[in-house]
Amino acid sequence: HGAVKVLTHEASEYADYLVVPKVDALQAAYEAVSPAAVLVPSSAEGKEVAARLALRIGSGVITDAVDVEAGAEGPVVTQSVFAASFTTRSRVSRGVPVVTVKPNSAAVEAAPAAGAVEALEVSFSEQATGTKVTGRTPRESTGRPELTEAAIVVSGGRGVNGAENFAVIEALADSLGAAVGASRAAVDAGWYPHTHQVGQTGKSVSPQLYIASG
Ligand SMILES: Cc1cc2nc3c(=O)[nH]c(=O)nc-3n(C[C@H](O)[C@H](O)[C@H](O)COP(=O)(O)OP(=O)(O)OC[C@H]3O[C@@H](n4cnc5c(N)ncnc54)[C@H](O)[C@@H]3O)c2cc1C
Repeated sequence: HGAVKVLTHEASEYADYLVVPKVDALQAAYEAVSPAAVLVPSSAEGKEVAARLALRIGSGVITDAVDVEAGAEGPVVTQSVFAASFTTRSRVSRGVPVVTVKPNSAAVEAAPAAGAVEALEVSFSEQATGTKVTGRTPRESTGRPELTEAAIVVSGGRGVNGAENFAVIEALADSLGAAVGASRAAVDAGWYPHTHQVGQTGKSVSPQLYIASG
């Protein structure tokens, strides 16, 4: 999809320690290619990686972008803010912009390019091994897409009227390949787990289609 070059590096540090090894790798890639902008996924981890990289290279950072365009004075970033009631356009005033981009903001388009795979040289900083992961317990998988990344979300609210009726929401979600969400009212009533709550005190979603039922 338009990648001229793909830089790769494998090391156990990426899984065994928290974000710093990834920041080291991204900085090595940044230094290897001198990009016009650095784009990172807008996940919690992506935002931390972006902030740390921006600090290291003396750049401004913009989070939760829904669009990035070329501009006369550097890339211009669009954000959708205050529950999508305002659209802002901004650019960093210092350095190469580091931008985190929300999932599903751009349609995937085929764009043939070389995609040459090259090994990236990364030397980990002293801080890289500062925080070790001591254990992992994977959450039981539902087989549905992750709520924060899903392109379609089917969500249930107070009108669903009971935990047992969430089966209808799940069936609709499965027929669309969607993630299941729930309003706070439904979660507070104990009908669906808090891990599925959408909103200010739940998860931030960015689907292309959101079906709110009840
Ligand atoms: C600080 C703060 C943070 C909050 N954070 C969140 C958050 O993160 N996420 C969140 O979801 N909420 C949050 N809330 C709560 C939020 O303000 C709303 O109260 C809540 O989202 C409403 O949930 P609901 O739409 O399911 O319920 P309701 O507003 O009660 O809506 C239910 C709707 O279903 C309709 N209905 C009922 N029965 C049927 C039926 N048989 N068929 C069809 N329709 C039916 C009703 O007419 C009604 O319109 C927060 C509130 C505060 C104060």
